[in-house]
Amino acid sequence: MTRSSFSALVLTVSTIMMAATGCAGNPERSGGGPAAAPAGAGEEVLAGVSKLTSVQAGPVLFVIAGIHGDETSGVTAARQLAAGPAPARGTIIILPAAAPEALASGERWAPHWSDLNRAFPVPGSDSSVRGDLTDPAYRRADAILGRIAAERPALVLDLHESDRYWTEGGGPALVIPRSSKSTELALALLELPGMEDFAFTGPPPAGSLAAAVDYLLGIPALIVEVPDSLPPEERERLHGVVMNAALCMLGMLGMPCMLGMPSMPSILVPTETP
Ligand SMILES: [Zn+2]
Repeated sequence: MTRSSFSALVLTVSTIMMAATGCAGNPERSGGGPAAAPAGAGEEVLAGVSKLTSVQAGPVLFVIAGIHGDETSGVTAARQLAAGPAPARGTIIILPAAAPEALASGERWAPHWSDLNRAFPVPGSDSSVRGDLTDPAYRRADAILGRIAAERPALVLDLHESDRYWTEGGGPALVIPRSSKSTELALALLELPGMEDFAFTGPPPAGSLAAAVDYLLGIPALIVEVPDSLPPEERERLHGVVMNAALCMLGMLGMPCMLGMPSMPSILVPTETP
C-alpha cells in the first residue's frame, strides 16, 4: 500500500467514524484531503526517528518502543540500538519513544489520551473500535502508521512490558498476528540462539500497532512482551536479544545465524484482561 492510499484509508475510516458517532468532525481532516499537520497533530514524534543505514543495500527493520509510558525497558533498549553501529546490510529505523507524553507522566496513557496501542485503525467491520478521532492518541497512531507504510520494512518490532497477561509463566513472549508472514518470521526468530526463553501467543489486540501493520499494511509485525517483574537490566537485555535475533534473521548482521535450535516454546493462552 502506498502512503497516499494509506492516507485515503485513514480518511475513509475517519469519515465512517464521524458518520457513526455524529461527531462534529475533525478540522484537520475536512476539505476532502489531508491538510498540513498542525502542531500537536501527532507527527511531531517522528522527529525522534533514527535511521542507521549500511553502505550495502538490504532489508529494513523498524523498531518502535514507548507506546506505553510505564514500560521503559524497550525505550532504553531501542535508544541503545539507535546509538549504533549501522548494520552490515540494510537499514534499521528506530522510534524509541512513540509517546513521550506518556513516558513523561510515567503512565500507560498520556493525560487526556486514550490507549495509544488501541488507537490504530482496525480493518473491516471492527472499525467501530476506533473512538473519538480528536483524541491525540488517534492522530499519533495515524502518524506512526503512515511512517511505517512509507518505509516498507521487512519486519516491525514493538517493544512492551507485561504483568503476566502476555507473559504467563514468568518468561518473555512474542505476540504474533494471524498472518502467515508474521507467523513464519516469528517461528524463525524463536529458533535462534538466545530466544530459548521466549514463548509465543496472539493475536495482538484490535487497535494495536502490530495488528494494524500486519492486517492493513501487509507488513510482518511482532509485539515483544517482557515481564515487568524482572529487573530493568534483564528486561532491557531481553529486548536486545530479540532485536539482535531479528537483525540476524534478516541477514543484516553480515554473519550466519545458527538456525535449527531444538527448543520450541509452548503456546500461551491469556487468562486475564490486561
Ligand atoms: Zn505495553
